[in-house]
Amino acid sequence: MGVLVLGSANADLVVAVERRPGGGETVLGGDTVVMPGGKGANTAVAAGRLGCDVALVGAVGADQYGSLLRESLASSGVRTDLVRTSERPTGIAYITVTPDGENSIVVAPGANSDVSPSDVDSLDWAGVSVLVCSLEVPLSTVEHALAVAAAHGVRCVLNLSPVAPVSPEALALLDPLIVNEHEALSLADSFAGLLTLGPKSAVVTLGGRGAAVVTADGVVEVPSPAVDPVDTTGAGDAFSGALAHRLSSGDDLVAAARYAARVAATSVTRPGAQPSYPTPDEVLA
Ligand code: ATP
Repeated sequence: MGVLVLGSANADLVVAVERRPGGGETVLGGDTVVMPGGKGANTAVAAGRLGCDVALVGAVGADQYGSLLRESLASSGVRTDLVRTSERPTGIAYITVTPDGENSIVVAPGANSDVSPSDVDSLDWAGVSVLVCSLEVPLSTVEHALAVAAAHGVRCVLNLSPVAPVSPEALALLDPLIVNEHEALSLADSFAGLLTLGPKSAVVTLGGRGAAVVTADGVVEVPSPAVDPVDTTGAGDAFSGALAHRLSSGDDLVAAARYAARVAATSVTRPGAQPSYPTPDEVLA
């Protein structure tokens, strides 16, 4: 297998409301829309759709949302045998959307909180070339996975989202660290300054402007195809999944980022996160 993704799987429960309720208040909304989500599952699905040999390491509950997530992963070609069934409920993101398009989100991590270093210790690393992690699962598990992967000669990628206090030892293993522009500028005073945190390389995603690839040789910007955005949900996860796929196929970092920007731009032209991710022949030029 080429790529292992360690991260969250959530059911996104989305309801449209005219306005958000205040404390002690009830408002009526539209019908609930249920969608598979979570940064880990999204990243794995993005890679799977592109034809990558990929598995998700994570946990869901023994409930209907766990089944929904397993089905979405499997139908995108993601191996689910490393998704453990936890005694806790599947993670849920409760999302309200107002007419101005703004989201308010409460995440109940549930089973994602249960992804533990022992899940990492039982992994078989034979054939794995890239590990990609994100931080909706416990930081201690992510740091352990990065250390074990590196010891097996596996390339380590971390999407530092949501931002967490990752140890200098773990940061030093990354090639690359992936952040969006806002996260980058909360961590360093320039894109090049991200390398002072320790990673071998960094990629900063820049929304409609594409991405910046930061290495010891300097900063290279890769463009995003110009599109009319419909829904940018999960664009960052599409980028991470596509990047990991191409790195595992042998691309250098700039070539992989160039392709990932095309994949993520394609995803913003369609609604939803996972449903918007393209197959190779759908990726915009
Ligand atoms: P999200 O939180 O929505 O998942 P993010 O903040 O992590 O996203 P962004 O930098 O907004 O990450 O977007 C990731 C990638 O998606 C960009 O590098 C780019 O390739 C693509 N993308 C995002 N928005 C647009 C857009 N308006 N037009 C074209 N491409 C876009």
